[in-house]
Amino acid sequence: MTNMLQDIAPYKLDNHYDPEKRPDENSFIIAFRGSLREREILIKTGSEEGSFLIPRLSDFAHADDNKSISCEIGTDNLVYAFSIDEERFFLSIDQELTSDCFADEGGKGTLVYRKFLELRKENLKPRHYVFAIYTAFHLYEWYDTSRFCGKCGSSNKHDDNERALVCPKCGNRIYPRINPAVIIGVTDKETNKLILTKYRTGFGQNALVAGFTEIGETLEETVKREVMEEVGLEVTNIRYYKSQPWGMASDILSGFYCDVAGDKEIRMDESELKYAEWVSPEDIVLQVPDYSLTNEMMRVYKEKGYAGTV
Ligand SMILES: [Zn+2]
Repeated sequence: MTNMLQDIAPYKLDNHYDPEKRPDENSFIIAFRGSLREREILIKTGSEEGSFLIPRLSDFAHADDNKSISCEIGTDNLVYAFSIDEERFFLSIDQELTSDCFADEGGKGTLVYRKFLELRKENLKPRHYVFAIYTAFHLYEWYDTSRFCGKCGSSNKHDDNERALVCPKCGNRIYPRINPAVIIGVTDKETNKLILTKYRTGFGQNALVAGFTEIGETLEETVKREVMEEVGLEVTNIRYYKSQPWGMASDILSGFYCDVAGDKEIRMDESELKYAEWVSPEDIVLQVPDYSLTNEMMRVYKEKGYAGTV
């Protein structure tokens, strides 16, 4: 039943870093622009509704095709990201691709920027490309915020052997940042209910208790602390479910179910949540789109109740 973002079988992600890989005309080019909260991604129009296309290098006009074109889609600014099966994805970094770069002849469709966060609200297909752009987004956010050495301020360089940026002056080395966070299904065996939440801001649909792991904490301790902070309950019988890479927020999410212990009355953190209630399986309203770990954990409960969580 699993249908999460990263579940792209029979396709397979190969994230082995290979700086020798250079783009060819068929390579996918993933390009973002805009400030941190307003990232836009370049996509190709002309596909059917609910689906989208990632541009290939052949969709761009190259500076060397025609000297009058001001676009300089420099292959030096295309960093190999990963492959899915035989298809290679490159990330455009340190350059903004403008309409000067878009080849518009030969019925290739039009390239347009779309708000990346809005893509999240749609059940886009094909799913393995959605996973590709989430993963590319994670890499992009890291490259985009890691241009300079945090220690001495010099410009970082790409390492030759691994996915790392290295300061040529002081030798400081940094790796892609992945933030650990937990998703928590708080269950009540007696009443067969699950706690659903809604955040005060941002994503407007049903969710579960969730939060980031703090330094010095185990994931189980994060579970206990977050449940206490968000809904004021003690929990026990913490059981791991599954994990999910969530490039949208540079996260690795770990899903846990746990049982409420003692007092069951919710004391909601109103600064973070606008809704937190015990809900019966049949009353659970799932998210659109359907590819998050949170949604899968809610779906398990909706279909199987408490018995699905043990
Ligand atoms: Zn440095």
